[in-house]
Amino acid sequence: MIITIDGPAAAGKGTLGTALAERYRLAYFDTGMVYRAVGLEMILEGLDVHNEEKAAALAAKLTFVKMIKLSRQKDFRSDVGSRAASIVSAHPQVRAALLKMQQDFALNPTFADGCPAEGVVYDGRDTGTVVCPQAEIKLFVTAGPEVRAKRRYDEFRQKGIETEYEKVLADMIARDKRDSERTAAPLKPAEDAVIFDTSELNAAEVMAKAVALIEEKKSKNGF
Ligand code: C5P
Repeated sequence: MIITIDGPAAAGKGTLGTALAERYRLAYFDTGMVYRAVGLEMILEGLDVHNEEKAAALAAKLTFVKMIKLSRQKDFRSDVGSRAASIVSAHPQVRAALLKMQQDFALNPTFADGCPAEGVVYDGRDTGTVVCPQAEIKLFVTAGPEVRAKRRYDEFRQKGIETEYEKVLADMIARDKRDSERTAAPLKPAEDAVIFDTSELNAAEVMAKAVALIEEKKSKNGF
C-alpha cells in the first residue's frame, strides 16, 4: 500500500505519517529531507542557494547515506535549513534530479534497519501529484498559518532553541508562498486527495480520521 501525505509545514504530516507507517508496517519517506540535504550542502559548500545549476549538480549526486549524514548537522531542521530547502526546491532542475530517488523507494521500500517493507508512507508537498500519483491513499493535511507557526514555535522552545513567535510565523508565511507559487510542482492537493484541516484536531483525532478513511478504501477497493 502506498499512502501520500502532502501539505504545508507544521500541519501534522510527520506525526500522522509516522503513526500510519507504524500501524500498517510501512516504510516512511520524509521527502523534505532530500531538499533539506541539497539546501544545506549548498550552504556548507559556500554556494548561493539561488544557483540552479550548482544545486542541480549536488542533487544529482545525492544518496540516502549522504542525506542521513547531512541530517545530523545542526542546521538541517533550523529556519536557515528550511529556507535553503524551500529555495532550492523551487528550481525545476533540482526537482528533476531528485525525482527518481524518491520514486525508486516505492519499488523497494525498506525500514530504517534495512528490512523490506510492504509499502510506503510518503510525506511532502508533491508526493500525491508528482512522486507517486498511483498511490492508493492520498491525504492533504493542512491548518491555518497561526496554528502551524505556534506548533513550530513550541517545538523550537522544547528543543531549547530561542526564537520569537512573530519570526516563526513570518518565515512560515514566506515558505508557504514560495512553495505554493513556484512553477515546478507547486504545493496543491491532488485531485483525488482527501483534505484534513488539523487546526482544531489533536494528533489522535487526525489519526482516527485517517485510519477510518484507509479502512473504508481498503474494503471498497480490495487492496
Ligand atoms: O517538509 P519540510 O519542511 O522538511 O520540507 C522542506 C522544504 O522542502 C519545503 O518547504 C519545500 O520547499 C520542499 N519540499 C518540496 N517537495 C516535497 C517536500 C519538501 O518542495 N515533496
